[in-house]
Amino acid sequence: MSCIDLHSHSTVSDGSLAPADLIRHAAQQGVKVLALTDHDDVAGLNAARTAARPVEISLIAGAEISVTWRDRTLHIVGLKIDPHYPALQQGLRAIRDGRVDRAAKIAEALANSGIDGSLEGAYGFVRENIISRTHFACFLVSRGYAGNMKNVFKKFLVKGRPGYVPHRWAELADVVRWIKDSGGRAVLAHPGRYGLGGATLRQLLEEFRALGGDALEVVSGSHTPEMTQRFAGLAAEYGFLASCGSDYHGPDRGYGEIGRIPPLPSGCAPVWHDWPEASALAVSAA
Ligand SMILES: [Zn+2]
Ligand SMILES: [Zn+2]
Repeated sequence: MSCIDLHSHSTVSDGSLAPADLIRHAAQQGVKVLALTDHDDVAGLNAARTAARPVEISLIAGAEISVTWRDRTLHIVGLKIDPHYPALQQGLRAIRDGRVDRAAKIAEALANSGIDGSLEGAYGFVRENIISRTHFACFLVSRGYAGNMKNVFKKFLVKGRPGYVPHRWAELADVVRWIKDSGGRAVLAHPGRYGLGGATLRQLLEEFRALGGDALEVVSGSHTPEMTQRFAGLAAEYGFLASCGSDYHGPDRGYGEIGRIPPLPSGCAPVWHDWPEASALAVSAA
């Protein structure tokens, strides 16, 4: 269990709780420091900050930014970003525009395999701004094309499946620069989820470090205990700080509960080591 959770989503991207509801839910679960890290958007941060004050949550301004690195999609979480920083805002806007194009292509691909109306259907699940594969997944599940959110991705939306379309997100170097120049820390999100082999993973870590990347998300709602140990070791070896986050998306989205994540393994240097809002907590990193 951890009262620090540095990765979560609201309805601004593909979560199912509005920012204020997410904050209240986090407080009920005992979270004290929470980062809201919506995909490619910072539009939920104001509402989240307002909701955080009365329930005594320290809100960390964040975003989870989509990157294409060697034809793979990676997620970089920015923590303690300045959401008003112009280069960051412009970059996020360009990525969001790309999402609209991608959604049209996904719908076209699904139509080619006999599934019509998915663009309107997916937009029917968008609550605020960001269209994502999750919204297509919701549509496909609602129409009975798959039993649940977990296997709808495997069946339709990943490489080799009918609704998969290649897409280029932002460059790693640009994203790290937007985050750092806005005053934030750049974290490689859920590194265990990319299926990278040892040599490629090491090339990524070296490149990320050279670009100024700060931390690895050692503890993630999507990591096995073995992955957590592995990335704790790699963080120490490469001199990265360590972050932790549930990647909570809401009660009905098949991710872990907010705040329900194990503590950082011993030997990790927490990404929050010099944050005043975290130093007030009696957090054990052991
Ligand atoms: Zn992610
Ligand atoms: Zn996420």
